[in-house]
Amino acid sequence: MNQGAVAVAGVDIGGTNIKVALVDPTSGRLVERQSFKTMAERGPEAVVQDLSVCLRELSRRAGARGFRIAGVGVGCAGIIDSRYGLVLTSPNLPGWVRFPLGPLLATDLQLPVTVGNDVDCIGCGEYWLGAGRDLGDFLGIALGTGVGGCLIIGGRAWSGAGGSAGEVGHMTIEPGGERCLCGNRGCLETLASASWLVRRAKEQLRRGSPSRLDATRGALDAETIYHAAMDGDRLAVELFAQVGKSLAIAIANVIHLLGIRGVVIGGGSAQAWEAFIGPLQEELTRRLTMAPVAEVRIVRAELGDDAGCLGAVYLASDQFDLF
Ligand SMILES: [Zn+2]
Repeated sequence: MNQGAVAVAGVDIGGTNIKVALVDPTSGRLVERQSFKTMAERGPEAVVQDLSVCLRELSRRAGARGFRIAGVGVGCAGIIDSRYGLVLTSPNLPGWVRFPLGPLLATDLQLPVTVGNDVDCIGCGEYWLGAGRDLGDFLGIALGTGVGGCLIIGGRAWSGAGGSAGEVGHMTIEPGGERCLCGNRGCLETLASASWLVRRAKEQLRRGSPSRLDATRGALDAETIYHAAMDGDRLAVELFAQVGKSLAIAIANVIHLLGIRGVVIGGGSAQAWEAFIGPLQEELTRRLTMAPVAEVRIVRAELGDDAGCLGAVYLASDQFDLF
C-alpha cells in the first residue's frame, strides 16, 4: 500500500474519445485509466460534467489503493490559452469557443488544473518517457488526418503568442500548391497528411497512373497505400517519397531557424515510417546546409496513444511542482 502517495490525472480530449490516466509522477507508472466517448455535439458543459464524474470515480479507486490526486493536466485539440485554461477554438469540438475548461474543472474538482494543446502534450509525453528522453530540444510532428506540430524547448512546450507556435503543418512547402483547409496554399499538411495522401492517390489513379491500387474497390486509405509502397507499387512509392521530401523541407526550415537537432515523428501515419524515412533523409541532406545532417536525429514516437495523457500529467506535474 502506497499510503499518502501522489497521483496526477492526465486527460486527453479528442473529438471522438476522452482518455484519462492517473499516473505516479515520480515514476511515470500508471495507477488507473479509463476512456469514454466525447459526444461533443452535446456541448462543452455536458462533456466537462462527464469528465468530472470520471475523475471522481478514478480518484475513489486510486484512493482505495492509497493514492491522492494532486492535480489535473488536460490536453485538448485546438488553440488553447494555457494561462487561463481556455479553449479558444477547436476544430474537432464544435461550440468550444473561449470555453473556460480549466476553471470549470478546477472549481468542480477542487484541484489545480492546467490545460495545454494536445500535440504539445504528446511532445511533453515523448520528452518525459518516450522517444524524446535523450534528444534535448526537439520538433514534434504528428502525422495523421492533418499534420500537427510542437516545439519542446528546455523541457517545455514552446507555445508562442496565443498558443500559435509549432504549427509545422501550415508551413508553406509549395508556394503555388493546393489550397489547404486553413486558406493558405501548399502547406505541409497538403503534402504529408493521410487525407491528402489518399486524395492524391485517387487523383493519380483517375489520371490513369499504373498502380495496383484500386480506388473503386473498398476504401482506399493511407494504410493500403503504405502496404502497396512496401510491395514496390510505383505510384504508392512516389506518393510516400513526396511525404518524406515535404517533411524534410519543413524540418530543414525549422532546424535552420532554431538550431535544434532532434525530431520526433508520431501519429497514425508514422506507422508508414519505412515508406517515407529514406526519401526524408535524402532530401534533408540536400536541404540542410547550415547544420551537420549527421547530428540530426529523427526518431519515431514511442508512446502511441498514451502520449497525450502522459504528457498532460507531465504538464501538470511541472506546473504544480509535483515531481
Ligand atoms: Zn494550412
